Amino acid sequence: MTSNVGYTPADKGILIVLSGPSGVGKGTVCKALRSCTSDIVYSVSATTRAPRQGETDGVNYFFKTREQFRQMIEQDQMLEWAEYVGNYYGTPRKFVEDTLNTGKDIILEIEVQGALKVKQKFPEGVFIFLLPPSLPELESRIVGRGTESEETIRNRMSVAVDEIAMMEHYDYAIVNDQVDLACSRIRSILTAEHYRKDRMVSKIQHWMAEVKK
Ligand code: 5GP
Repeated sequence: MTSNVGYTPADKGILIVLSGPSGVGKGTVCKALRSCTSDIVYSVSATTRAPRQGETDGVNYFFKTREQFRQMIEQDQMLEWAEYVGNYYGTPRKFVEDTLNTGKDIILEIEVQGALKVKQKFPEGVFIFLLPPSLPELESRIVGRGTESEETIRNRMSVAVDEIAMMEHYDYAIVNDQVDLACSRIRSILTAEHYRKDRMVSKIQHWMAEVKK
């Protein structure tokens, strides 16, 4: 339930969306956030893309066939989903809702189309865009990862340019020049977001009622 001021009541967690072009280091930044704070829950997405070396089902993604993915959509199990460079990616809805209802913050690491769908459903969410220091630096990070074919790298770079143009729909933009710095910038944003007046008003409403008399 959303309050009449448009923010999540304080006893609900904050929904955080982290987007940014492929290769910008969203996964690494999330991992760093995870290691320095236990306050944020991570949403594990479903995807039809094949697992990369070292990825585990249920940890990095829930790896699905196209048929299984379609079923999840039909059964309204997805908060959002999008097609990205030939594969489907989506956020399982129930886990996100249950986490927010228990008062915990949750972070979704998703691409831009999906983020915009989430924004329609959760306008009170916090939308953060992660930028590379430059485009050549982004390309060298994708190449350096060594997991993509030349064609996929070209596709991802062209999608990256379109994605960066969508940054205007986000609340914050952070440059990932150094992982620890990017991580502490995100933590600062979240600290400030927790003290937004409208979130506080709902937290202290039991005695604020007296003030209004
Ligand atoms: P990758 O294949 O590199 O793991 O992910 C490709 C893109 O899909 C990344 O930008 C990643 O953030 C995005 N992505 C991952 N999970 C989801 C999801 O659940 N929904 C959407 N819309 N994008 C996702």
